[in-house]
Amino acid sequence: MTRGRHRGGISRNSSKAPSQAILDLPVTKNEDVEVEIIGLTHEGEGVGRVEGYTLFIGGALPGERVRAKVLKVKKQYGYAKLLEVLVASPDRIAPPCEIYKQCGGCQLQHWSYEAQLDWKRQHVVDNLERIGKLKVGGTDAEGETSEGLNEEKGIVVHPTLGMNDPWRYRNKAQVPMGMAEEGGLIGGFYARNSHRIIDMDACLIQHDQNDDIVRRVKAIGRDLGVTAYNEETGEGLMRHVVVRVGFRTGELMVVLVTNGTKLPRVEAWIEAIRAQVPGVASICQNINTKRTNVIFGDVTKTLWGRDVIYDYIGDVKFAISARSFYQVNPVQTEVLYGKTLEYAGLTGSETVIDAYCGIGTISLFLAQHAKRVYGVEIVPEAIEDARANAALNGISNAEFEVGAAEDVMPRWLEQGVSPDIVVVDPPRKGCDERLLETLLTMQPERIVYVSCNPATLARDLRVLEDGGYRVKEVQPVDMFPHTVHVESVAVLVHN
Ligand code: SAH
Repeated sequence: MTRGRHRGGISRNSSKAPSQAILDLPVTKNEDVEVEIIGLTHEGEGVGRVEGYTLFIGGALPGERVRAKVLKVKKQYGYAKLLEVLVASPDRIAPPCEIYKQCGGCQLQHWSYEAQLDWKRQHVVDNLERIGKLKVGGTDAEGETSEGLNEEKGIVVHPTLGMNDPWRYRNKAQVPMGMAEEGGLIGGFYARNSHRIIDMDACLIQHDQNDDIVRRVKAIGRDLGVTAYNEETGEGLMRHVVVRVGFRTGELMVVLVTNGTKLPRVEAWIEAIRAQVPGVASICQNINTKRTNVIFGDVTKTLWGRDVIYDYIGDVKFAISARSFYQVNPVQTEVLYGKTLEYAGLTGSETVIDAYCGIGTISLFLAQHAKRVYGVEIVPEAIEDARANAALNGISNAEFEVGAAEDVMPRWLEQGVSPDIVVVDPPRKGCDERLLETLLTMQPERIVYVSCNPATLARDLRVLEDGGYRVKEVQPVDMFPHTVHVESVAVLVHN
């Protein structure tokens, strides 16, 4: 049944679709195959090879030999379902989370944390080499330092900075609500590839207080007889429960996202939440009546307490409202911004641009060490937060503008803004071409590139190298343990 090479003597035409027979692929649909796993995709699937043909197999790990059933066959590659691990990776572990398989929120829990960190670095290296056509040297760990760098040695890509305790790291839970079959509010996660809600009591990457609060709010909802929103019918009231905790301040916010303005028995809700969640600083209701899977609607009402909770990154205090973007892993955010600050090499006399600045977190972090910081961001509310946060901290040398960075930066250039350092922190699709062109005209001494996508990082670094910059170092930082997300920060100097 299992096979390594061709199954001897079988008619290769009879069972295959005509196109497959013409291509003569080494596997057929529904076939049971034995596969060596040689890598992992950026989505966390094992990359297997059968006679040079690539099969993607979820759940399989590099270095393993597995038995799998072929599900889908295309010309260049196919997909298979893991049936059995024949030779396990020494780094395979039992995932600690009970609902790991059904949930899909984490992808790497079956791999040791050390292996995850190594893979994240290697994933960055592979992208730099393949997409960026960049030469990568060693890591500091292998004895090279940035000081000792020269062009022949290539870029230093450091070992991934991971967490000492890579669990319970998230400060925000956004939990979709549903109804139990026997009635009553439940809430948890969507079953993989579906929108069926499965009740959940604990999420191991979530701050345990958030888990606890969600549990209590669900119980309050059951007591008060609230209905959950139903995506298919558009009926029912409670859509999401969102909970945020300030890791440094301990402040708590509870947001009830409702399909409709009216929250029946609102006083009972407030009283119950205050009684069940001691120390809660803010209870809000967000109204979202749209048929969409976007969590928040446009209107937020404060039901009780403050509109915001406060938290700190480094010395900078941030006001976080229900809808504010705020980094979800505060411990690693400090590590990431610390690296960004180090790479920026500020002495206090520099002009800095922070492009894609969000609520100004990096801008304000850098402002204390620079002469002037300009932040640009496309979401108007984020810029409002950035300005408010600057005022909150008495930071007067940072200014913010709303707009697309690729439009605003050329305007700044015309106005004579001449940055010494530019920090970019774009979304997954990377920097706009026009922004890169503007950077090459502005010619800052250094560019610090913070990236959540190694592929677009590599693509953009190639453009900057061709334009006269040299990539010195890249530091991967693990912001999202047990998931496939890879964050890194790169520093480039002008030749
Ligand atoms: N630097 C921030 C946020 C980075 S996330 C932090 O560390 O918290 C990327 C940000 O880029 C988002 O806030 C997104 O709204 C913004 N963005 C997306 N496209 C943009 C564009 N073309 N111009 C400016 N900002 C953009």
